[in-house]
Amino acid sequence: MSIEPLALDGVVPFPPETAAEYLAEGHWRDQTLPELLFATAERFPDKLAVIDRKAELSYAQLTDEVLRLAAGLQDLGLNRGDRVVVHLPNIYEYIAFVFALWEIGAVPIVAPVAHRRAEIEHFIEIGEARAYITVASDSGTDLAAMAADLKARWPQLEHTVVLERDGGGAEYEALQSKGSLEHARRCSPQDVALLQMSGGTTGVPKLMPHTHQTYGYALRRSVGERGITERTVHLLVIPICHSMSTRSPGFLGAFSVGATIVIAPNGSPDTAFPLIEKHGVTRVSLVPPILLAWLNSSLRKSYDLSSLKTLMCGGAKLVEAVASRVEPEFGVQLSQSFGMGEGLVVSNPADVDRATSVRYQGIPASAADEIQVIDDEGNDVPPGAPGHLLTRGPSVIRGYYRNPEQNALAFTADGFYRTGDIVERDERGFIRVVGRSKDQINRGGEKIAPEELENALLTHAGVHNVSVVGIDDDVLGERVKAFLIPRSPESAAELTLGKLRQFLRDKGLATFKLPDVVEVVDEFPYTAVGKVSKRLQRELNY
Ligand code: AMP
Repeated sequence: MSIEPLALDGVVPFPPETAAEYLAEGHWRDQTLPELLFATAERFPDKLAVIDRKAELSYAQLTDEVLRLAAGLQDLGLNRGDRVVVHLPNIYEYIAFVFALWEIGAVPIVAPVAHRRAEIEHFIEIGEARAYITVASDSGTDLAAMAADLKARWPQLEHTVVLERDGGGAEYEALQSKGSLEHARRCSPQDVALLQMSGGTTGVPKLMPHTHQTYGYALRRSVGERGITERTVHLLVIPICHSMSTRSPGFLGAFSVGATIVIAPNGSPDTAFPLIEKHGVTRVSLVPPILLAWLNSSLRKSYDLSSLKTLMCGGAKLVEAVASRVEPEFGVQLSQSFGMGEGLVVSNPADVDRATSVRYQGIPASAADEIQVIDDEGNDVPPGAPGHLLTRGPSVIRGYYRNPEQNALAFTADGFYRTGDIVERDERGFIRVVGRSKDQINRGGEKIAPEELENALLTHAGVHNVSVVGIDDDVLGERVKAFLIPRSPESAAELTLGKLRQFLRDKGLATFKLPDVVEVVDEFPYTAVGKVSKRLQRELNY
């Protein structure tokens, strides 16, 4: 059935001729994301789709639950194109909700559970969200109270749904008690499927509009050559709304072939190892600090991890010294990946040689993933030389949601995304990340925009000026350091790490963004043109 695409205000569309070409070449398909799940459920109704701490659902059970939830969401009055903030931890209900919202054509704005009021409020405002779905509390923060507060403050926010801390609960059950929808196409594959948060470099988080087709392409690519089949049991430990957990390959990749997803609340060895043993996990995706914790964990001897065959690692730079330990020490294949929420994901094919798998992050799986590696003047650099990575293709968005200013900076006129990453490409096309030109801190895979933290710190009465940078850290790759110039000698006493972290928490910032180190200084180093030299602050740890 053909349904006209829904043009969402503030979304940069693909040029019609590009969209037609992607369709004609099969990069995009006439399929929505729920259609992908329901097709697999027809083939493997009794196979386990998802396991978490408290539930195990077969494909048939999952699709039943999705249709009941969809009926409940429709009963609330939610419809095609409506935005709904989904702010949940790693629990299977996250998956049930996003599919139920897709089933009715609504658009989840997905936020990691570590986010707090500042971020969630921004999403509600920019997305004009009609509903907010969360859990009662997270790490001591009362999210139920926050939900009530947000509902009182934002008139367009008509509904909140608050699950118990570990999922389920009366509000979840109530939503499921309104009967069940028939599975049917209620949106176009060209519709925006979700708005995903970008770690970004700017003062407020940006939202990336992905359609059913950009996501469909990305998940097929990440499954295609990576040896994922219906026999795969994939352990998901990274926050569930991150693209590594969603579509690279994530639960969508797994559901496209009938694999099983095991959801862990986090990636610590004492949580993950028992799950690997219990469920015969064959594959996992990690970020470097978690991988390091696994390699160095004494618990490895206490569990049978022999089912594990492939360990994917991405999200931040994996140093070669650590990468080279994985295969000999763990007896599993290392598959590095490099990508970004905006779209592109490259990884190393399953059959790549060891020297490549340790040194390189991957190669695009299709010629449709266009890559440019250029110097400061915009000229292509030769193989082996570092350059700025730009990319365009069937998985790459053409702009952030409702953000023309950032779009003018981050995208070229012909639709290439400036990733801000410095890479080298070898003769074969394998990519190695060598640095970064963007002003972003990568704290073990969590992306932090210095400007956001600087804006918040500048509202402190004792702060005259502030500069936030990432400093090297052996485990996390980078940590967050704030250099502060006090307003007066007396106010310096107020600028301690503990007091500033509390100040930022009170402002509603997520804990992972807070500074790890603060230093009170008299002056900043400046560049020749008079800008604060963050490079000097980083390098000299000024
Ligand atoms: P996100 O949108 O959170 O996936 O972050 C994307 C950014 O993370 C990229 O633009 C890179 O800066 C960084 N990144 C992701 N994977 C890697 C990797 N394997 N090595 C180095 N940096 C990475």
